[in-house]
Amino acid sequence: IFIHVKLYQKQLKLLINTGKFQLSTNRNLSIIPHMPRHSERSEESPTNVGSRIRAGSLAYAQDDKTGGHCFDLLTSDGAHLLSRTVCFAIGARSRRLGLPKEKELTGKGISYCTTCDAPLYKGKEIAIVGGGDASVKGAILAGQYVFKLYLIVRGAKIKAEPVNWERFEKNLLKTGRAEILYETEVKEIIGDQKFEGVRLSRPYQGSDNLKLGGLFIQIGAVPNNEMAKKLGVKLDERGYIHVDKFMRTNVDGVFAAGDITDGAGSFRQDIIAAAQGAMAATSAYQDLGIHGGQSCDIHALPVVVPSIS
Ligand SMILES: Cc1cc2nc3c(=O)[nH]c(=O)nc-3n(C[C@H](O)[C@H](O)[C@H](O)COP(=O)(O)OP(=O)(O)OC[C@H]3O[C@@H](n4cnc5c(N)ncnc54)[C@H](O)[C@@H]3O)c2cc1C
Repeated sequence: IFIHVKLYQKQLKLLINTGKFQLSTNRNLSIIPHMPRHSERSEESPTNVGSRIRAGSLAYAQDDKTGGHCFDLLTSDGAHLLSRTVCFAIGARSRRLGLPKEKELTGKGISYCTTCDAPLYKGKEIAIVGGGDASVKGAILAGQYVFKLYLIVRGAKIKAEPVNWERFEKNLLKTGRAEILYETEVKEIIGDQKFEGVRLSRPYQGSDNLKLGGLFIQIGAVPNNEMAKKLGVKLDERGYIHVDKFMRTNVDGVFAAGDITDGAGSFRQDIIAAAQGAMAATSAYQDLGIHGGQSCDIHALPVVVPSIS
């Protein structure tokens, strides 16, 4: 994905952490990567055009109160950056069970993403932890590949969209390819080099040990919204940053992209985050460009729709 933006000598410090899009933009762009998970190539394009990548975490962002919409950004190494525009692309973290071995065995039989990893478990017996719509949708998807699956549900019922529940019931429950273990929790993760099973809080068929080929943990995600909240950015009821179709938030000069936003419903994938990053960058750039970058307090609708190829 490329977005081509004419070089423009205005002050812009735009925080894009996704690193998933190739970006040509002005020389005053700052990118603060925290722990990039993806290809190093994605860092090349911004630096090739003179943008700077600062390693470290952003500790806070606040209106600098000197007038207009200028933001004071403090990085973990103590540097202050003054910026007219901020784009939050700092994602969401999957909620963990918090059990020993969970971290070590992630990617070795434990996963948090059925959309991404379900095909890897073809023919296996797996369990999905969680009693929400995401786990039921995950089960429907995983059911296309796995031999059998267990839904491990802490409560006494499942909260799923009726349409998803009906599909799950018809295709998996009634055919015996899925079972629901209600009022059951995972107490222990078993396996050393790779995941081998779980110990349950109550016995299933006479044993509390359940041997499994894979475990999907679908107990929700926590958006990294702390800094946005402090800036007065509007969040949806689940804590994701509310964006419009230009990736703008309710606060002038603040944009957001990727998993941190409510922009693509529950479709949280790389390609979507990258596309939203491109849109947010273009919107931020145009927002400055339209007003000549002279004033911090006027922001307007971007006039050109980003071209993505
Ligand atoms: C286990 C797993 C596997 C997945 N596999 C796939 C797949 O195969 N295909 C697919 O399309 N999608 C996959 N996804 C979904 C995909 O990873 C996300 O949709 C995508 O990464 C979202 O991009 P993002 O930039 O919004 O957030 P992220 O990729 O989460 O990036 C956010 C970045 O911001 C950093 N950050 C956080 N706080 C700060 C701070 N204060 N200062 C500076 N930086 C900060 C984080 O460290 C991180 O590097 C997977 C997700 C998971 C959890």
